[in-house]
Amino acid sequence: MYQLPLLQYEYDALEPYIDAATMKIHHTKHHQGYVTKLNDALEPYPELAKKSIEDLLQSLDSVPEEIRVAVRRNAGGHHNHSLFWMNMMPNGGGGTGGQLAQAITDSFGDFSTFKNEFNSAALSVFGSGWAWLIKDADNKLKIITTHNQDSPLMEGVRPILGLDIWEHAYYLNYQNRRPEYVDAWWNVINWEQVEKNFNS
Ligand code: MN
Repeated sequence: MYQLPLLQYEYDALEPYIDAATMKIHHTKHHQGYVTKLNDALEPYPELAKKSIEDLLQSLDSVPEEIRVAVRRNAGGHHNHSLFWMNMMPNGGGGTGGQLAQAITDSFGDFSTFKNEFNSAALSVFGSGWAWLIKDADNKLKIITTHNQDSPLMEGVRPILGLDIWEHAYYLNYQNRRPEYVDAWWNVINWEQVEKNFNS
């Protein structure tokens, strides 16, 4: 059985950038919903339920067709949100150092160009989806977007930083003002965790 991970901070810890009500509903209703539906879908397939969430998403072709859509949506939702919570923290933001900073410079020129390109990608998604910084098989960084709850793992690349741009992630506080939410989110990024994701 997959389980909802606990947050490493309180629901109000990311205010004023992300409000407590949004965080609580997002974690206890939306993320919990993906976990519950994933477990329900896999109940008749105990051998699949033993796989790690990463394995499951990297081998969707081997999932029986009758549950493949449910697994794609809900395993994706579970993994995406687990990464999202970990990549945020109170008093976060700033920038990064070390090998990740070098890789950002190598791939994008400088940090502010990376930030601009990431924001443009996040604003370009029509409907529900995610913006990602990913590491490809050659350890190169790229910015990609996915629709719905699709995971970069399904494309064979590793997500190291992700931004949820479903309306449920910001609508209570920002309504239709997605650009304000995207800008605010940079103040709560846990760069130490993003570096760990990059180096793993
Ligand atoms: Mn979400």
